[in-house]
Amino acid sequence: MSAHLPSTEPADLPPGPWLSLLEQQGRPAALADRQGDLQVVSEAFARRLGHSTAELRGLAIAELIPLARRQELDGLLQEFLQGQLPELKLPIDAEAPALRLAWLQEADGAPASWLLLELPERRLERRAFEELLREHGGAVALLHLHLQQLDLVQGKLGLEAGEALLEVLAHRLAGCLPPAGLFCREGGDRFLALLPGRWSREAVLQAVDGLLAGLEQPLTLTQHVLEPAFHVGVARSPADGTAFAALHRAATRALELSHQPPVSACRLAEPPERGMQLRERLAGPLAIALAGEGLELAFQPILELETSRLVGAEVLCRWDDPVLGRQVPSDFINVAVATEQISALGRWVVEAALATLAAWDRAGHHLEQIGINISALQLEDPQGMPFLRQALVRHGLLADRVVLELAEADVIALSARAGDHLRDLHHQGFRLAMDDFGTGYSGLKRLSQLPFAQVKVDRSLIAAIDYDPMQQAMLLALVTTAAGSGVELVAEGIERSRQLQMLQSLGCRYGQGFHLAPPLSVAEMEASMAEPSGRWRADAAGRVRLGEG
Ligand code: C2E
Ligand code: MG
Ligand code: MG
Repeated sequence: MSAHLPSTEPADLPPGPWLSLLEQQGRPAALADRQGDLQVVSEAFARRLGHSTAELRGLAIAELIPLARRQELDGLLQEFLQGQLPELKLPIDAEAPALRLAWLQEADGAPASWLLLELPERRLERRAFEELLREHGGAVALLHLHLQQLDLVQGKLGLEAGEALLEVLAHRLAGCLPPAGLFCREGGDRFLALLPGRWSREAVLQAVDGLLAGLEQPLTLTQHVLEPAFHVGVARSPADGTAFAALHRAATRALELSHQPPVSACRLAEPPERGMQLRERLAGPLAIALAGEGLELAFQPILELETSRLVGAEVLCRWDDPVLGRQVPSDFINVAVATEQISALGRWVVEAALATLAAWDRAGHHLEQIGINISALQLEDPQGMPFLRQALVRHGLLADRVVLELAEADVIALSARAGDHLRDLHHQGFRLAMDDFGTGYSGLKRLSQLPFAQVKVDRSLIAAIDYDPMQQAMLLALVTTAAGSGVELVAEGIERSRQLQMLQSLGCRYGQGFHLAPPLSVAEMEASMAEPSGRWRADAAGRVRLGEG
């Protein structure tokens, strides 16, 4: 490590730029003078060594070396301090990587007066991370951290500022983690952190609190003061799984839940028995909501990516129970499936969605298509298909404006009879979509066996599309396959402008996601469709508003 200090800096003062760098970035580093006495110590450095900054200030470097090795290493340290070595690595802890010492060079070539001590960040490649997790399999907490403002920073200050911000936050993370903690960049605006040990709910929540307190300190980026904010999903092993994939899934799910009402900065993964508890808690109230006026619809716009033209909307069921509050859709949908209420729920959704579409037609808002989610059980329901047809007739609509979305996992497990029903629906003119494509293993095979008009690429396949060559190659292959077979491709879960740009350049035609538009209420949809231009664009906060042209 070498750096140029301003030559005007008097040698008996700590070098200003380094000082602020250490403090702002929270790097686990310190500065020592020519004699090897610590003069400036960052909080992160002190924390990693298990001391306070005051305890470390003034200490000779030799005193950081464990007693047992001090004599053996002292000669080397003296050689370094006399300027005979440009860099030195001192093992100060048997468990941790060595402390790195390097002279900071003066700009005018004068002998260096300051030396930088840096504890290496325990930052790993994701693959190494997975291996380590396997090693610690017995007991760890896995944190999935999501920085909220990256898009905003990139949009306002440029891509480089965004990268610089992530770099600062990576340094901070290194400094805030407990001594044995590890982290890696998960890509985009996300990090993964691994905290070895067995963690109680309270202990891990407290650890996350401490971590966020360090990470979310205001910082200055190209003269702008920014307060970074994170959301965190936490999974603990063994409660939430021992394999990396299971823990990662659980932490990611918890992170998603943290964004949903009630929004919270940190969510813990729920143990598997939660399914049973949910069922007990929600089955009764759901039946009441279904019988009464308890459910609502939201509509998430689907856009043609190249032109930002609104081409359709996915219908999403919402339930805000007067006693239990707003429920997470995948939770109550799962309960509806488990309690066989899904057919009734599906019929309610079909009726309400088609009624809304017909009302929009009458009001002069023409929406080409709506996507309605259906579950495999609905296809088995003898009343399900006649109901769909009757509802179309009742509302005077044509079947080709309705896309029936069936999740890949459901398609794979479909019975022969349900497959026949799907073919019937296709013959009646309904368009079929394979939803969440990429989450199963044989979706491609089924794609060739059933008459799908649309494939909705799951957001996990495009989560890293803006920087991961593998995801780019996979999407390109999908674009080519889809084009060759006349199937429309819709990318789900577009959250960043860079994902959008990459999808456009790879030739993916349609998409939906929070970056384009969140699910909207009926009134919000109507307000948006009433705009004459019909063009959509994201504002700085990532919400889509109708643009001028
Ligand atoms: P889905 O069919 O894949 O719907 C898309 C989900 O992704 C929606 O979640 C939507 O809010 C969410 N989403 C949209 N853009 C983004 C984004 O940029 N990032 C992220 N992280 N998420 C995004 P929602 O509304 O929570 O619904 C979850 C699932 O519940 C749906 O997944 C669907 O499988 C099911 N579901 C919802 N409504 C119905 C329904 O009426 N019937 C049936 N059978 N299933 C439904
Ligand atoms: Mg869907
Ligand atoms: Mg989907």
